Amino acid sequence: MRRLLVLGAGTAGTMVANKLSRRLDRAAWQITVVDQDDEHVYQPGFLLLPFGVYQPDDLVKPRRSVIRGGVDLVRGEIDRVNPELNEVLLGDGRRLGYDYLIIATGTTPRPDQTPGMLGSQWRKSIFDFYSLDGATALAGALQEFDHGRLVVHVTDMPIKCPVAPLEFTFLAEAAFRARGMRDRVEITYVTPLPGAFTKPIASQQLGSMLDDRKIAVEPDFMVERIDPETKTLISYDEREVPFDLLVTVPLNMGADYIARSGLGDELNYVPVDKHTLQSMAHGNIFAIGDASNIPTSKSGSAAHFSVEIFTGNFLRHVQGLPMTGTFDGHTNCFIEAGDGRGMLIDFNYDTEPLPGSYPVPGLGPFGLLRESTRNHWGKLAFRWLYWHVLLPGRPLPLPAHMSMAGKHVPKPPDDPDNVMTKEQP
Ligand SMILES: Cc1cc2nc3c(=O)[nH]c(=O)nc-3n(C[C@H](O)[C@H](O)[C@H](O)COP(=O)(O)OP(=O)(O)OC[C@H]3O[C@@H](n4cnc5c(N)ncnc54)[C@H](O)[C@@H]3O)c2cc1C
Repeated sequence: MRRLLVLGAGTAGTMVANKLSRRLDRAAWQITVVDQDDEHVYQPGFLLLPFGVYQPDDLVKPRRSVIRGGVDLVRGEIDRVNPELNEVLLGDGRRLGYDYLIIATGTTPRPDQTPGMLGSQWRKSIFDFYSLDGATALAGALQEFDHGRLVVHVTDMPIKCPVAPLEFTFLAEAAFRARGMRDRVEITYVTPLPGAFTKPIASQQLGSMLDDRKIAVEPDFMVERIDPETKTLISYDEREVPFDLLVTVPLNMGADYIARSGLGDELNYVPVDKHTLQSMAHGNIFAIGDASNIPTSKSGSAAHFSVEIFTGNFLRHVQGLPMTGTFDGHTNCFIEAGDGRGMLIDFNYDTEPLPGSYPVPGLGPFGLLRESTRNHWGKLAFRWLYWHVLLPGRPLPLPAHMSMAGKHVPKPPDDPDNVMTKEQP
């Protein structure tokens, strides 16, 4: 038997194990997936949980229920990989050998990496929504918040779903308006980026949405520490941002065992070829999903599109053939804008998010970089698609590569043909 070992049974690990179990000869291959716990959590739901749209139970399923029969599921904490021996050591001393290894252990919020974050105000006036516990605790805090300074903060990039903190900000602003308390709340968005987002056209659009909603932006803010006594964020260049309620996205890092195994960069992400996801150091190791260092958004959608390409490549690779598929960094993401509206962005390594329609040129039904109710419903429908199509590894009738069809490069702001205007469907 040839042994395929997948580390991590989250979004990417589950998709790849399910897809490959349909395609590899089951008599010749043993597929094993390892994870430290038995709860598969739908992470995009963390955004909506603090606003009461979901309850924690709506977002969790046992891992076995989403992994196909015939794939072995091992529960245990990964301690290290020994690439010289083709072996993985678990925390309890068990050893798992492999012929091919796929690393899919994602990225994790690390509040311990910022001095003061885990101090006396953690989960009192400092919250995160990048974990199930955090999002659940924040739901209670938002209910109780009646007036004062809400600060939404990103510690450093890259983070998974880099639009999520902006979405949280828009949703909070809309919720305060709906509760008739908007005039009692000052909202500030604190980011290490020079603007609202990483790419210029989307950054301009999202920045003007913040302006419209009277949300202040504190750009280029590299946090050095948090003072829990005075409830203040302090940057390396000695700027201070006081808060009454801080919603922070802590530093995101790959798993510590990757560092212990000598397989990672300074944030524990595995350096891979960005088109094939093959480790730069070991030919029989691949990293998929958030665990790799590829320069696209860390997201379930990038994981999905890349796994589509990876699967074909892997089947060729194990037959000794060259990997001819090329992942282009394709990602798309719905962005909640508040008031039952949303946006969609679609981009890859080379093309920034552009306005237009997706997936059918001219028809959509989804609008790119403009607000619509359909985009909001698309975001809500994504949860069903996640459990029933993406995770089981069923085919989705959307190309894995990004298409320019339906996209257009906007004209300068003063040009009468500029399309960066809000749609009123
Ligand atoms: C608030 C929020 C909103 C989001 N919204 C969207 C969205 O709208 N659209 C979108 O596409 N994406 C979104 N994402 C991102 C998406 O959820 C992730 O990018 C995706 O889950 C990554 O999949 P992954 O398999 O790489 O990692 P994960 O799904 O995180 O899986 C990693 C797995 O590895 C396991 N693991 C880690 N370390 C160890 C260890 N040492 N031993 C054993 N097991 C280990 C973990 O238990 C976990 O099961 C969002 C994320 C967040 C937090």
